[in-house]
Amino acid sequence: MARLLDGTELSRVMREEMAQEVAALRAVGVTPGLSVVLVGNNPASRAYVASKTRACEALGMKGQTLELPEDVSKEELFATIDRLNTDPEVHGILVQLPLPAHLPYKAILEHIRPEKDVDGFHPLNAGLAFVGDPRAFVPCTPAGIMEMLRRENIPTRGRHAVIVGRSLIVSKPLASLLVAPGPDATLTLTHRHTPDLAHHTRQADILIVAVGKQNLITADMVKPGVVVIDVGQNRVPDPGSARGYKMVGDVDFDNVSQVASAITPVPGGVGPMTITMLLANTLQAARQAHQARAT
Ligand code: NAP
Repeated sequence: MARLLDGTELSRVMREEMAQEVAALRAVGVTPGLSVVLVGNNPASRAYVASKTRACEALGMKGQTLELPEDVSKEELFATIDRLNTDPEVHGILVQLPLPAHLPYKAILEHIRPEKDVDGFHPLNAGLAFVGDPRAFVPCTPAGIMEMLRRENIPTRGRHAVIVGRSLIVSKPLASLLVAPGPDATLTLTHRHTPDLAHHTRQADILIVAVGKQNLITADMVKPGVVVIDVGQNRVPDPGSARGYKMVGDVDFDNVSQVASAITPVPGGVGPMTITMLLANTLQAARQAHQARAT
């Protein structure tokens, strides 16, 4: 039976460490602040945003949500971001995705000042992260996966990491982090058009799956001893539960965990690490803003 990679517990430890750094910054008059812009009434987005701002406040940071109506114009949204860009008490800005179809989400993400872009989606941050510049804000999910591998003492040097999925927010930044000097992994990146996916996943020492399809990875697709990181979050009906649904990953957890050496659960694996890295990025933004003012 695989060892469980417990993102909730790791996050608890990391948040305790960060609370001390927040206290130190507050002692010099800086309260790290995150502003989340929420457009419309998508219940899943609303729940994500609430958990992000709650996590900020639990750490002694300031977390605020700016709610805009579903039919907000792009000019109004730009003006909101302009205000946050110039507010010295706001260190991190995040526009919750997905946005309604009439809003040009790329232009909106590019409107956030790169030094406040704690989601790491601005092309400047993507480029800085790609070249390994420490000023980069790395997107929270890949950053959380790297932190989990490091803290769980899972070696990456020379190991074969196979990533399923090629998204810009998870898989591509993770690929560049894994092959960077330090982690030094050997990499295979797969996607929808990869023939014989199982051929690749069976070679993985570390398998990371970020697709959004329940049971995409079954026990016959992995080799014994593999480390499995399941990023997928799929909502499936669960009439017995109070909410009427439950979250599952992309991996057939019950059977794959009989073969793997370590595996993340869903929920409680990558998810909490993602929010923890958002807090870490906000703290980094506050620290950098404070240093820039001091020099
Ligand atoms: P995305 O942008 O929809 O990308 C999914 C990727 O999967 C695409 O690159 C797609 O390939 C690939 N794909 C689809 N079917 C495939 C198949 N049969 N074989 C191999 N690859 C296939 O998704 P995302 O934003 O990366 O998110 C992926 C999942 O992770 C979702 O369930 C999401 O909810 C979850 N997620 C979780 C967290 C967290 O904190 N836990 C954070 C972010 C995302 P093509 O490019 O060829 O279409």
